[in-house]
Amino acid sequence: MSVNQQAHTGPPYGQPQPGYQGYQQPAYGGQPLPGVPQSQYGAYNGPMPGYQQPVPPQGYFPSLGFPLKGSPVSLNSDTSSLAPNFIGSLRAPPTSGAPPPASGASLPSGHLAYSQFGHGDVQNGIPASAAPMQRPPASQPFLPGSAPTPVSQTATFQQYGPPPASVQQLSNHMAGMTIGSTTASAPPPAGLGYGPTTSVPPVSGSFSATGSGLYTPYTASQGPSPTSVSQGLPLAQPLFPGQPMSTQRLPTQVPGFAPPPSSAGIGPSSYPPSTGAPRPPTMPGPPLPGQTVAGPPTSQPNHVSSPPPPSTMSGPHPGPPMSGLHGPPPPTHPPQPGYQMQQNGSFGQVRGPQPNYGGAYPGTPNYGSQPGPPPPPKRLDPDSIPSPIQVIEDDRSNRGSEPFVTGVRGQVPPLVTTNFLVKDQGNASPRYIRCTSYNIPCTSDMAKQSQVPLAAVIKPLATLPPEETLPYLVDHGESGPVRCNRCKAYMCPFMQFIEGGRRFQCCFCSCVTEVPPHYFQHLDHTGKRVDFYDRPELSLGSYEFLATVDYCKNNKFPSPPAFIFMIDVSYNAVKSGLVRLICEELKSLLDYLPREGNMEESAIRVGFVTYNKVLHFYNVKSSLAQPQMMVVSDVADMFVPLLDGFLVNVNESRTVIASLLDQIPEMFADTRETETVFAPVIQAGLEALKAAECAGKLFIFHTSLPIAEAPGKLKNRDDKKLINTDKEKTLFQPQTSFYNNLAKDCVAQGCCVDLFLFPNQYLDVATLGVVTYQTGGSIYKYAYFQLETDQDRFLNDLRRDVQKEVGFDAVMRVRTSTGIRATDFFGAFYMSNTTDVEMAGLDCDKTITVEFKHDDKLSEDSGALLQCALLYTSCAGQRRLRIHNLSLNCCTQLADLYRNCETDTLINYLAKYAYRGVLSSPVKTVRDALINQCAQILACYRKNCASPSSAGQLILPECMKLLPVYLNCVLKSDVLQPGPEVTTDDRAYIRQLVTSMDVAETNVFFYPRLLPLTKADVDSDSLPAAIRNSEERLSKGDIYLLENGLNIFVWVGVNVQQGLIQTLFGVSSFSQISSALSTLPVLENPFSKKVRSIVDMLQVQRSRYMKLIIVKQEDKLEMLFKHFLVEDKSLSGGASYVDFLCHMHKEIRQLLS
Ligand SMILES: [Zn+2]
Repeated sequence: MSVNQQAHTGPPYGQPQPGYQGYQQPAYGGQPLPGVPQSQYGAYNGPMPGYQQPVPPQGYFPSLGFPLKGSPVSLNSDTSSLAPNFIGSLRAPPTSGAPPPASGASLPSGHLAYSQFGHGDVQNGIPASAAPMQRPPASQPFLPGSAPTPVSQTATFQQYGPPPASVQQLSNHMAGMTIGSTTASAPPPAGLGYGPTTSVPPVSGSFSATGSGLYTPYTASQGPSPTSVSQGLPLAQPLFPGQPMSTQRLPTQVPGFAPPPSSAGIGPSSYPPSTGAPRPPTMPGPPLPGQTVAGPPTSQPNHVSSPPPPSTMSGPHPGPPMSGLHGPPPPTHPPQPGYQMQQNGSFGQVRGPQPNYGGAYPGTPNYGSQPGPPPPPKRLDPDSIPSPIQVIEDDRSNRGSEPFVTGVRGQVPPLVTTNFLVKDQGNASPRYIRCTSYNIPCTSDMAKQSQVPLAAVIKPLATLPPEETLPYLVDHGESGPVRCNRCKAYMCPFMQFIEGGRRFQCCFCSCVTEVPPHYFQHLDHTGKRVDFYDRPELSLGSYEFLATVDYCKNNKFPSPPAFIFMIDVSYNAVKSGLVRLICEELKSLLDYLPREGNMEESAIRVGFVTYNKVLHFYNVKSSLAQPQMMVVSDVADMFVPLLDGFLVNVNESRTVIASLLDQIPEMFADTRETETVFAPVIQAGLEALKAAECAGKLFIFHTSLPIAEAPGKLKNRDDKKLINTDKEKTLFQPQTSFYNNLAKDCVAQGCCVDLFLFPNQYLDVATLGVVTYQTGGSIYKYAYFQLETDQDRFLNDLRRDVQKEVGFDAVMRVRTSTGIRATDFFGAFYMSNTTDVEMAGLDCDKTITVEFKHDDKLSEDSGALLQCALLYTSCAGQRRLRIHNLSLNCCTQLADLYRNCETDTLINYLAKYAYRGVLSSPVKTVRDALINQCAQILACYRKNCASPSSAGQLILPECMKLLPVYLNCVLKSDVLQPGPEVTTDDRAYIRQLVTSMDVAETNVFFYPRLLPLTKADVDSDSLPAAIRNSEERLSKGDIYLLENGLNIFVWVGVNVQQGLIQTLFGVSSFSQISSALSTLPVLENPFSKKVRSIVDMLQVQRSRYMKLIIVKQEDKLEMLFKHFLVEDKSLSGGASYVDFLCHMHKEIRQLLS
């Protein structure tokens, strides 16, 4: 099995992609991708470092070397042992010589096939195992008495010959088979001519197509989005030495709201609001107080054609913050005395009037479209309000160079956008857990007063960069992990050993537990165990325990999991080339299944099913010369017609599998079947796993609304007229509870469902996604899939999805110290009680957000503790417990709370909270509640923490100064305020994606990254400095890249020099650039190389492959692009940042008065 050792040099694996680097063998580890600075993107291309760690301290060992206990390596024996009664159920094909054409040609008819099967195999083939037995024989092909027989065909049939030769016959044969079983499925005569018309994808590039494709891939990944963009920023320091750094978390006073400043201009950055008086700008960033309010806009309305102030668009420091740095930007923005905008309740003037959109909030002035000199008196200078770019840059430059050491309680980690290393010294890395606040109020009254939600975003199996150590695996032998007798918390660094080490006091519940004899150790003079540093569970925040049989289902060690590939072979799937593509890809991809540590080959078994209105199972047993097909056409009561030979080891059955994958596209090449079933497909996978007594994952490739008669059949109930009505919530709810019940069964079995959707129209993601969602699976959507433009994206997603680290049959529980407890959970999982989060599968990209509430007082001395314990089965079938511990501070002063919050995490929580809210409440109610909560958070700060100052000032806590801008992005996201081009499926899809996102993903999803490509330094590995998401920041002479984790847009201004166009697109003029491109042409020049390396770099960073869309300025696609310029007003009525800030200020004032 040398396959896994080879570098993946084949074409499909040639490009940099996250999955391969991250999940491959050590051999790949550490090999930097060309063009990708390893240090920056380590998180995404690193090998599993922990598995190759140098010899660890005695007492424990890294996962790598761990011998597999109880996990049979030999899969074959495993399989057969599970199905002892199946001996002989499936006859090996009589003709081992592969008589393809002959056998195909000789196929008599479906009926004959059945009878053969019935007599020959049925009797002894009948499922002996409990599960299959239960099913009524109605459709059972194997049961002699069950009349219809439709089901399966026998060996003789199954001998597919070399594809080309036997195609025709096979197709006919298939048809016959189907007809025999259910007449309805009979393929219509060729002349019937359905299909093509309805399924023709819209012309690419047309709006509808792109619109729906918008959200196809999702992405993201844990990774901080690293960029070494800090150039330029440092300027600020020299200019104003001594000014507070943003990390000091001083409050931000937004200038526009200040009373008339006595002076305008640059000054020392005395930040504290206490001064009340307007202050001159200080920091490079806009957020600084005292920054001047620009006067009437001299620049054009928010339109690209109006050249933005030079300082923001050109020069080495493209970012807008720069203008702030140097004080009021040029003449265009003459400093003006502040104005008190609130007096009459109206909002500040926006600099960029956006024609045609009504104000988003009552009272918001409608800006005329006249570009001329701005009429009204006052307006807010966008450069003077808190800038996400500036905050990100500041954090990078302040916190990106030093490792984050987790030894200290309650430390706020660097932002997710900062690239930093973590050293575990007793608390879990922020890659595993991030909190809304690291200092939580001692009492529930205080917590309620602040309205700051207390939540943790937990990513238990997060991928780490290669420089960091994977959690060590601790083996306590048969006695298992040491736990508190009462609350069952696991041994951790916060347990207190007493009585000379004979007992320990639980840090969660205070109960005293005897130390088991084998675990006893003496204490040193400080009361610390002398083996403290030898034991991960005493000295580290994160580690794993090997679970004993007590932690296994039915007290039995699990079998290795299985992957089942289930391919829709209906007309659209075949015609688009999808079926052939999947089969081709699987041939090589199966060599890259996840492996444990140093295992030579993956323990995962694989199985294959194809389906349309009926299901086709395949026997790919290694002893067969050719695969065998079994058709199950009675989908009403799904069962699996074979056990032995369905789930196999890839290496053992290599030739049979290859043959099957060659034949599938040919077999269905002429299909006319357009209808599909869906629930029976999941049921079939579930039954197969049940029969094999293992957990596993179904990879379902599906194209259409399942309207064929079958359980879980759906109808098209899409209705956009429901938007903005009380019934809008129904669009997000599943149309039947059938799938909820199915999901529950899947979770019980550890059957995780990953769904790849290829819709050409509505297919009800809200319903189809239920099982995926509740089993911890992933969903991918490729609307109007076209081979040429979408195959790279799909294949990259598939590769990563198949290879990524995943645990099965997982249960997560979060324990807390006395005083708080976990009360609410958000994510892709199922809960059958109030404490245990169950996931059939949990991969390295999934997060669970947990909310905490007080149930008692906390103390500043002891702080608060969280312990997240995840019990799961590894990809080799090993049962493990992964433990993450985190200690937080507690406070009696609100100011301490507000100094230790993390806005990115807050937004992650609020988005998930809101996205769940739309299931039960009108969207407007949800939006209003969000606004209200944030206004209360900020009002509480103003009232209790800020120094007295004029009510006309908006004062924001330093670490929450981006709350308004980010909140506005959530409010105008497609789920909460859809634009006209957003489909119901898109909304359901996004809703589902966001629910599992980590903080880095929500950050870039809600506030996309916008990079001026024309400012990129072709000689360096760094990215150009990001700029703010507003049209007025764009120059028509430049090219920009915008990414949000799902899409990458490359925007080309109308005035871009022809030379640049030539170097990047290989055409001579702007008009010749094709919007249909889905990749950038490969041209041999530094700029082209640089841009492509940036794109590759971003792709590697995200957990999904982003769709690349070329947008030409003033082209129709630009509307799509503008949707992501989130500081501007949106087409759907979403407020601009400036307007929204004014609105928030008004809300806050109302709360304070
Ligand atoms: Zn306890």
